[in-house]
Amino acid sequence: MEALQPDTIYAPATAAGRAAIAIIRLSGPASGHAVAALAGKLPPPRAARHVRLRDPDSGEELDDALVLWFPGPHSVTGEDVAEFHVHGSRAVIAAVMAALGRQGLRLAAPGEFTRRAFLNDKLDLVQAEAVADLAAAETEAQRRQALRQLDGRLGELYCGWSDRLLRLLAHLEAAIDFPDEDLPPEIEARVAAETAALAAEITRHLADGHRGERLRDGIAVAIVGPPNAGKSSLLNQLARREAAITSPIAGTTRDVIEVAIDLAGYPIVFADTAGLRDSGDVIEEEGRRRAVARAEAAELRLFVFDAGCPADAQGAAQWPGPDTLLVANKIDLAAHRDGPPPGALALSALTGEGIPDLIATLAVRIAEIYDIAAPLLTRARHRAALESAADALQRSLDADLPELRAEDLRLAWRSLGHITGRADVEDLLDVIFADFCLGK
Ligand code: GDP
Repeated sequence: MEALQPDTIYAPATAAGRAAIAIIRLSGPASGHAVAALAGKLPPPRAARHVRLRDPDSGEELDDALVLWFPGPHSVTGEDVAEFHVHGSRAVIAAVMAALGRQGLRLAAPGEFTRRAFLNDKLDLVQAEAVADLAAAETEAQRRQALRQLDGRLGELYCGWSDRLLRLLAHLEAAIDFPDEDLPPEIEARVAAETAALAAEITRHLADGHRGERLRDGIAVAIVGPPNAGKSSLLNQLARREAAITSPIAGTTRDVIEVAIDLAGYPIVFADTAGLRDSGDVIEEEGRRRAVARAEAAELRLFVFDAGCPADAQGAAQWPGPDTLLVANKIDLAAHRDGPPPGALALSALTGEGIPDLIATLAVRIAEIYDIAAPLLTRARHRAALESAADALQRSLDADLPELRAEDLRLAWRSLGHITGRADVEDLLDVIFADFCLGK
C-alpha cells in the first residue's frame, strides 16, 4: 500500500492588516503545481522571481508579486515550500488565498508548518517551542534566549543526557540479558557511578532558580515597604519612564498591582504590594500576607521607605542579600535630604529625581543574574520532565535488583525523550547492537 501523501497547506505568514508586503506560504507536494498555476512557471530554487499572479480559472491578474520556491527536502518544513510576497492589502491577500484554495490546497492549522518541520526532523520539540518564543519575544533578552534555544543548544544538552542514559541502559540490559557473555565484570558499578553523575547534572540544571522561565515570562521585582512610603508612586514613575510591554498580565489583584516593562532589554514585572504593617484588620492582614508571599517569590525586591524615617529601613532585614535594594523616597522634601542610611538609593517618586539611577542599578543587578552563557531551562514542561527523570535516576540508584535499576533508567530516558520528542525503542536497539557484538 502506498504511504498517504500529506496534503498541501497554505497560510499568510505575516500579521493581518494593511502592510507594504504580506507573505503567503505553501508547504506540501502540490506547492509546485500551485505556483505554476498562479505564476506561470516555477522560479529557480531558492531565488526570488518577479511575476504577475493570475487566477488560473478566470485568467484575471491578481497582483504584481515575488515568488520563491524551495523544493524539499531543503526547506523549512522539509516539504516542497513556496512563498508569495504580495502587496499587503486585504483584497490582494484574499484574492490570492481564494485562488490557492481553488487549487485544492488547505488552509493551515495554527503551528502546522512548524509541526511538519518537526515531523520531518528539521527541528526537535525544544526548537519548535523556540520558534514560538522567538515570534513572541518582546525584549532583547527574550529574543536572545529564544534564539539560543532555536540554535539547538538546549536541545543538545537534553539529547546529550538522553544519549548517555541510553548507553547506560544498554550496558545494564546487556549485563542482565547476557550474563554468560564476555562482558567486563565491573559494568554494573560503572553504570551506577555514571547514573549518579547524570542525576547530579540534571539536578544542578533544575536548581537554576527558574531563571530561564522567568526570562521567558517576566522577571518579578516586588516593591515592598511600609504604607505611604511611596510604593505606588514609584511604580507609576517606572511605568512612565519605560515602554510598557503590551502583553496582558494575569493575576492583578486588589492587593498586588503589576506593571510589565522592558528594562534594559529584560522583561520585568513590577509588583506593587500592599503596605507591610501589622494590623488587626482582617482584610489588611490578608493584603500583608500576600505582599510578603509576593516579596519572597520575587527575583528582586525594592524596599521603599520614607527617607525622613530611616528606622523604617530595618523592615528590609527580613530579606537580606544583594537582591533587596533599599530605596529612600521623598528626598524632594528638604527635611529628608540627609536622612537615608548608607547603601540606600535616594530618590523622589514625586519629582522623578534619582529614578534613572535606580533603573541603572536594577539593570546591572539583573544582568549579573541573567547574563550567563549556559543554556537555561525555559519551560515548565521541560522542568516537569527533568524532575521526573531525576527522580527515576535516584530510584535506580536506590534499587537492589539490576532489573529494577534498568526499569528506572528506562523511565528516566523516556522522560528526557518527552522534552525533545525523540524517544523510541528503536534507539535502544540501535545502541545495544552497535556497542556489543552479542549476536556473533
Ligand atoms: P504607598 O502606600 O507606599 O503606595 O505610597 P503612595 O505612593 O500611595 O504615596 C503615599 C503618599 O506619599 C502620597 O500622598 C504621595 O503623593 C506621597 N509621595 C510619594 N512619593 C513621594 C515623594 O517622592 N515625595 C513627596 N513629597 N511625596 C511623595
